[in-house]
Amino acid sequence: MQAPAVCGLPHAADRGMWTRPVHVDRCMRDFDETFDVVVVGAGQAGLSTARHLVRRGLVPGRDMAVLDAADGPGGAWRERWDTLTMARVNGIFALPGLDLPAPDPAARANVVLPDYFARFEQQFDLQVRRPVRVDAVHDATDGWLAIELADGQRLGTRGLVNATGTWTRPFWPTVPGAADFAGRQLHTHDWPGGAAFAGARVVVVGGGISALGHLDELAGVGATTCWVTRRPPRWRTREFTSEHGREVVARVDARVRAGLRPRSVVAETGLPLTERVRGLRAAGHLDRRPMFDLVTHDGVAWTDEADRVTDRFDADAIVWATGFRWALDHLAPLDLRTRHGGVRMDGTRVVADPRVHLVGYGPSASTVGANRAGRAAVTELLAHLQRTSSTTDAA
Ligand SMILES: Cc1cc2nc3c(=O)[nH]c(=O)nc-3n(C[C@H](O)[C@H](O)[C@H](O)COP(=O)(O)OP(=O)(O)OC[C@H]3O[C@@H](n4cnc5c(N)ncnc54)[C@H](O)[C@@H]3O)c2cc1C
Repeated sequence: MQAPAVCGLPHAADRGMWTRPVHVDRCMRDFDETFDVVVVGAGQAGLSTARHLVRRGLVPGRDMAVLDAADGPGGAWRERWDTLTMARVNGIFALPGLDLPAPDPAARANVVLPDYFARFEQQFDLQVRRPVRVDAVHDATDGWLAIELADGQRLGTRGLVNATGTWTRPFWPTVPGAADFAGRQLHTHDWPGGAAFAGARVVVVGGGISALGHLDELAGVGATTCWVTRRPPRWRTREFTSEHGREVVARVDARVRAGLRPRSVVAETGLPLTERVRGLRAAGHLDRRPMFDLVTHDGVAWTDEADRVTDRFDADAIVWATGFRWALDHLAPLDLRTRHGGVRMDGTRVVADPRVHLVGYGPSASTVGANRAGRAAVTELLAHLQRTSSTTDAA
């Protein structure tokens, strides 16, 4: 990777205020606009990052830009289903510098949180640009990154913080026969709320918190359910302390440092055995079965080694609560993935390219993690940019 073609003003200390480098004109001509840092995605992780950039003295629209593909504020929260109330979310950490007032537990998360994010954006004048979808990020000449937008524009940046989450990439496993099922199939991404399945027979696939939430709602509307998971659920009986939280983060961190795919949060934390969950279990709504072998026209079936059907569950619907993948396709031209399918990380920094940070990825995939990651990414990225501009000056 070449050093960026910038000449700088005297540099502030790495952790102090940002000193704006002066870019050479040649770079400006290659792009519609140029920035020192571009943040892609304006959910919890992207907004936290943007706030820390502003705190360090970068000016939105001049030194930095925040791009978001959605039509309005809220990140993935604006897309979540109407029955996900504030009482049902797991605990949301406030964004840095703006309290999240205790919400009405019955209020919809897809209203409360987008409103709160909008206030945050306004208060710190983050000037989020939307709807702006990033299609691809390329390595351009002289150390610049070229950001291709869906509308054909091309932005140049010296540093990129990617905060695109997972919501846009629902994961559907491939199961034989799935295309022939006569009933309805949907993913958590499109969950319409339990009421849509009143009295129906529903298979819920997946061992995460979303699956538990769907089963809870289905129990409330008299649906007959069949809960299926690949591995037996791992229940967490002990309280989730900050020490436990640190252990989990350390385990996920070790995986991404090794370039492995981060595992799901539940794989690391276990499923919380709350009073509500205990009640569902006691009432027989959480009698988990192993993953079925095939989907039939009428439901799902389990087979023996000779492929003979040994058991079946006739269903009106299959709900795939099978999680999400990281929305990183637009970074593919940078070739950041290891052969293990992950991105090798050191903290929030991509080891293969120090101009690129991933926040909300791996160990920072929670609202608290995203907050911390935003701050860490800004500190390290700005230090890197000021170091590389001083190298260029000296040359
Ligand atoms: C059902 C569910 C419930 C959850 N509940 C909790 C909870 O209670 N507490 C908790 O801490 N965590 C919870 N999480 C995890 C939670 O989603 C994260 O903690 C956090 O909200 C993710 O924030 P983010 O900024 O990383 O991503 P997102 O909120 O997904 O934001 C990503 C943004 O990037 C934009 N984007 C994506 N691709 C592009 C592109 N190519 N170009 C431009 N913009 C793009 C999207 O439009 C979006 O606005 C939950 C997750 C799920 C699925």
